[in-house]
Amino acid sequence: MNAKRRPLIAGNWKMHHGGMSGIELAAGCVKISNHTPHVDLVIAPPYTALAAAAHGCDGSPVAIAAQNIHAKDSGAYTGEISASMLVEAGCKWVIVGHSERRQYYGENFQIVHDKTCAAIDSGLRPIVCVGETLEEREAGKTLEIVKREVVAVLPVLAKSTIPVAIAYEPVWAIGTGKNAQPSDAEEVHAAIRNWLAAASEEFAERTRILYGGSLKPENAESLLSCANVDGGLIGGASLDAKSFGAIATVAERLTAS
Ligand code: PEP
Repeated sequence: MNAKRRPLIAGNWKMHHGGMSGIELAAGCVKISNHTPHVDLVIAPPYTALAAAAHGCDGSPVAIAAQNIHAKDSGAYTGEISASMLVEAGCKWVIVGHSERRQYYGENFQIVHDKTCAAIDSGLRPIVCVGETLEEREAGKTLEIVKREVVAVLPVLAKSTIPVAIAYEPVWAIGTGKNAQPSDAEEVHAAIRNWLAAASEEFAERTRILYGGSLKPENAESLLSCANVDGGLIGGASLDAKSFGAIATVAERLTAS
């Protein structure tokens, strides 16, 4: 982490905690925020729990994110949710281009680009996910792949007047228990920051780059200590207030030190 940027710890609940348990977990996250004043906490419940979680977090520093968004603002798109609806439900952030959406729902560069535009146009802060597969890493293509994904959204992100974030999530590390080595994560994060700097040095300096992929209390210190890792996007370990709180506490401690 770097003192210039406030750490951002975001929990992606995926398809978990859509009802009462989501309301309870959100309340647990509000308690965590009492002990982590120097960390931005964000939770991304499923759609069905968004409004209730937003209500539960109202007046606290915990911000709500959606896990997905539709690029159009309204229309005949059965089953879809637009940016303005997410804002109405109490969202401040939205995850865009998560590898599960790229992999299972065919989200290509254009779709991720359009969703990022739709978010920013409505005042929703995007967390744009990028990352390589195991095959791509083993073929030595990590930086090439990640650069392509970053460059596809860079003009939109760089001209945004609201904060944006990028999450580097090696696909092979998501939900597998195998996190990236801190030095490998730092190499990619530093490269991303350089690509951002090509648009604007100031933009690169202020934009938070999160690490995601089996981030948990046991490896949080080594990953969050990296100079260009400004926080985390956390799946499995965000489903429980204790483990999510433990990661946020590490971020708080590293900020203070
Ligand atoms: C994620 O889904 O964004 C993620 C990083 O999951 P996990 O922490 O479970 O690997």
